[in-house]
Amino acid sequence: MKDSLLIKEHHPDAEIYVFYIDIRAFGKGFEDLFRRSKEEGVNYIRGLPGEITEDPTIKNLRIRVENTTAARVEEYELDMVILALGLEPTDDLKQLANMLNISQTSDGFVMEAHPKLRPVDAPTPGIFFAGSVEAPKDIKDSVTQAGAAVARSSIILNSQTLKMEALKAVVDFDKCTSCGVCAKVCPYGAIKVDIKAKTGAHVVAAACAGCGTCAAECRFDAITMQHFSDAQLLAQIDAALEKEPEKKIISFLCNWCSYARGDLA
Ligand code: SF4
Ligand code: SF4
Repeated sequence: MKDSLLIKEHHPDAEIYVFYIDIRAFGKGFEDLFRRSKEEGVNYIRGLPGEITEDPTIKNLRIRVENTTAARVEEYELDMVILALGLEPTDDLKQLANMLNISQTSDGFVMEAHPKLRPVDAPTPGIFFAGSVEAPKDIKDSVTQAGAAVARSSIILNSQTLKMEALKAVVDFDKCTSCGVCAKVCPYGAIKVDIKAKTGAHVVAAACAGCGTCAAECRFDAITMQHFSDAQLLAQIDAALEKEPEKKIISFLCNWCSYARGDLA
């Protein structure tokens, strides 16, 4: 839309066609831009061109398109065709995401910790992002997000002490065989095991996010999640079912995301 207005500004006689499937002018002032573009004479045709051929003599481009509003196939002869491509993450974003333990969405952009409650935070503590690395967005949204990311970072940078999640993996060295499985599965690289020296698994508490993956994977039952030990969970279940257990349903849900997912449902 913006480009069509710019072309009209410099070449008022230019005939412009925009072929589209859906137009969502969702931002502040975007609907005005769309309206102005139409008022300037830009033609919006609902339908995707199925074929583009070149006139061998005059080299013009011929487009065949099914106009779904008029329910007919139309043909246009144009001097120039510009393809509007979708925005994709850069190829090396995956490498960076692996390095920083950042999750990615199915289309490759980085994933926020929570879309409403922590929209500029990565799930990995201390990492914040802004702009199109998270999803395609315009300048205004990018600047707003950048401001929020700076504010979130400054809380950490200006703190004398940092508060951390109390939920950490704790290794029972009497049970640990130094097999190394926990270190392999830890998504945060928070466990060090010297398999040869057999010194047991050591959890770097500052890096441990308390996800519980290692505890679930350890075949020797050597890892307990602090504040979520089996004894504590069983005690909670007993307490919950003390009265009228036949009327209750107990669900085991993720400590991190069940509230957020319920909130979004
Ligand atoms: S998976 Fe269990 S036994 Fe193996 S190194 Fe880790 S804590 Fe030790
Ligand atoms: S609880 Fe999760 S983050 Fe912490 S050491 Fe185990 S696997 Fe790594």
